[in-house]
Formats: sequence, structure tokens, C-alpha cells
Amino acid sequence: MTQLLSETYLDYSDILIKPKMGINLNSRKDVILQKEFKFKHGQIRTGLGVINANMATVGNFATAKKLLSKGMFATLHKHYSVSEIGEFIKQCEQEGVSTENLFITIGLKNADEQLAKLQELESKYNWGEPRNICIDAPNFYVPKALGMLEQVRKAFPDAVIMVGNIASGDMCLKLLDNADIIKCGIGSGSACLTRKQTGCGVPMVSLILECADIAHSVNGHICADGGIVDVGDICKAFCLNADFVMIGGMFAGSDEAEGDIIEKQYTTSELLNGEHVIQTKQFKQYYGMSSEYANNKFAGGMCNYKTSEGRELLIPYTGSLDKILQDITGGIASCCTYIGASKIKHMPKCATIIKVHNQLNKVFEKYSV
Ligand code: 5GP
Repeated sequence: MTQLLSETYLDYSDILIKPKMGINLNSRKDVILQKEFKFKHGQIRTGLGVINANMATVGNFATAKKLLSKGMFATLHKHYSVSEIGEFIKQCEQEGVSTENLFITIGLKNADEQLAKLQELESKYNWGEPRNICIDAPNFYVPKALGMLEQVRKAFPDAVIMVGNIASGDMCLKLLDNADIIKCGIGSGSACLTRKQTGCGVPMVSLILECADIAHSVNGHICADGGIVDVGDICKAFCLNADFVMIGGMFAGSDEAEGDIIEKQYTTSELLNGEHVIQTKQFKQYYGMSSEYANNKFAGGMCNYKTSEGRELLIPYTGSLDKILQDITGGIASCCTYIGASKIKHMPKCATIIKVHNQLNKVFEKYSV
């Protein structure tokens, strides 16, 4: 019989973090944002667990390099060739940017080819220790995903392996037999149409709680993927016990994201000398990896048995990624001072989460400049 769970599953916009007295912490600059990650299969990495999405738009070299240079983690999308990735790693090393926290993404299609890609990277381009691999599929519930993970673990026993996406604790546990980090989130992404097209998905707050609890009980880690609207959502994810937070849309309007700035002109209602004022606004293209646009670009078009589960968007241009990353580190550090956490790793134990009906005061929203 169909089961109906009566508990309301919550998203970032349904909660807030309640400030409270904690240890003496006078300044946000005293907060330690770096954390040591001890992974299930033996590896250790250090950094701030913010990572770019492995999408064509933000899983690009410029975005990855910027995140790595700021002590965060990074992924590269799966459409780069071995030689392109090899050259990128070499270039980073020459510029003093460590690639220790860089994940190379592969997909599920043509498992042997994908494995060969990693092996070639290792043999020809000296992609030695440390190795971080992301096996990405919009739906990791398909049986071939488990097989692929087993194959990759066998070939790279000492790599940090991140896999996903999934949206339930049972699958999280199963995948941790061979994976180190589980990418959790289905239907939350800003360029995603999965919930509209399939009715499937789980709100992020409840999902993080469920998956982190299960993953941490077996020394696994989780990455909360999709749905970050504001920096406060990243803080919430860490407070809820997410180890990593993956971000697409928030990075996609930046200089570093793939693609040119697109200018569009608007006729405003404002009059000047009897004429309507024309305003120019700047945008960048952001598209889901399951969108028709991505299918046309990377897979030779949509298959006739598929529906598009991603959107193509023009989102506001936001300038340098530096500013966004500073907002993120500043926001997390400030959150820590509100809850008395001296280190990012203490956020879950210091946080009290409250369920709310109204999160933000939007009264002057339309006057924002
Ligand atoms: P955002 O940060 O933009 O809210 O979410 C980024 C995440 O959306 C990605 O990391 C990925 O998990 C998900 N995503 C990317 N492209 C698509 C797509 O075409 N369809 C769906 N359902 N999800 C996508």
C-alpha cells in the first residue's frame, strides 16, 4: 500500500537558527572556519566545506581555482578532457594553488571509458596523491550506479569518493560501503525541474538531518547539494550537520562562471524629457545539466524517452566571485558568534533550530538598489 508520511518535511526557508549565549567569542575574526575531514576510507583533507556544483557553468576551471585558493573545496565538470584537466592541475601547482581539495567528476555513462579517463589522468599527468573523485548522476538510485562505485573504489582504493545524488538515509548507508561523501538533494536546485516533472524530491533541512545522522554513525560524510538561496542557508546546512555544501546558482552570475556577460535593455516606467528611460541590465546564462540546452550541447540532443528536468536561465551578473566568497566566510563566522561556536565544526552542537512561518522581512524588497 502507498505510505503517506504525515510529518512535514522542512526546507531552509522553514527554519532559523536561534541566537544564544555560548562561550566568549568577541569577534567573528576569531572563528576557525577550516576543518579537518577524516574520511571513511582513510584519507584526511582540510578546508572549509563549501564546494561548487559539478555543472558546466560553475564546475569550470576559473571557479574551481578561486575556491581552492580560498581554502575551500572544488569540483570540475565531467566534460573536460584529460589533457585539459592535466594542464589545469599543472597550472595550479605553478601558481601555488593546492589541488588537494579538487574533485574530478565522472558520469555513469560508459563506465570503462570513465575509468580509463581517471587512469590516463594518473599515468600521463601525474594525478597522484591526493585523489578525489566525484561520481555524479541526477539519480543515483539506478542499479548501475552501485556497480560503477564499486569499480571506481576497486581501481582507486585510497581516493576520497563522493557520489550522488540521493535523497534518503537508506541509500546513504548503502553507498557508504564504498563512498566517503554522499551528495544529498533531489529537486532542490535552482535550475532543476525534477519536482515539476516527476513529483519527486525531499526538502533540504529534513534531508540533511536524516542523512547526516545515518552517515555520521558509520563515519561517512554528506554534502548538501542544491537550494542555497542566501548565505544564511549555508549556515543552516552546517548547523544541521552537513559536512559540505554544494553551490551552483549562487556562483553562476560571477565573472569566474562559464560564459559571457549578456546585456539586455528594458524600458522602465520612469520618464525623462517625455521619454521612457531605457535601462541596461547584465546577466549570465545558467542551465541545469539535465536541461534541453545541456542535452543538446553535450549529448547530441534529447533522447525520445526523456523529459527535460532542468531549466535554462539568465541570472543577474554578480561580478567577482571574491565578493561572494567573502560574504560566505563572513556570514558563517558571524553565525558562529551568534551561537557561541568558536569553530565551524562546533556549529551543530551549538545550534538550536527553530521552525518559523516567516523568515525574512520583505517590506522594502522592490526598492532594493
Ligand atoms: P543550486 O545551487 O543552483 O540551487 O543547485 C545546484 C545543484 O542542482 C547541482 O549541484 C545539482 O545537484 C542540481 N542540478 C544541476 N542541474 C540540474 C538539472 O538539470 N536538473 C536537476 N534536477 N538538478 C540539477
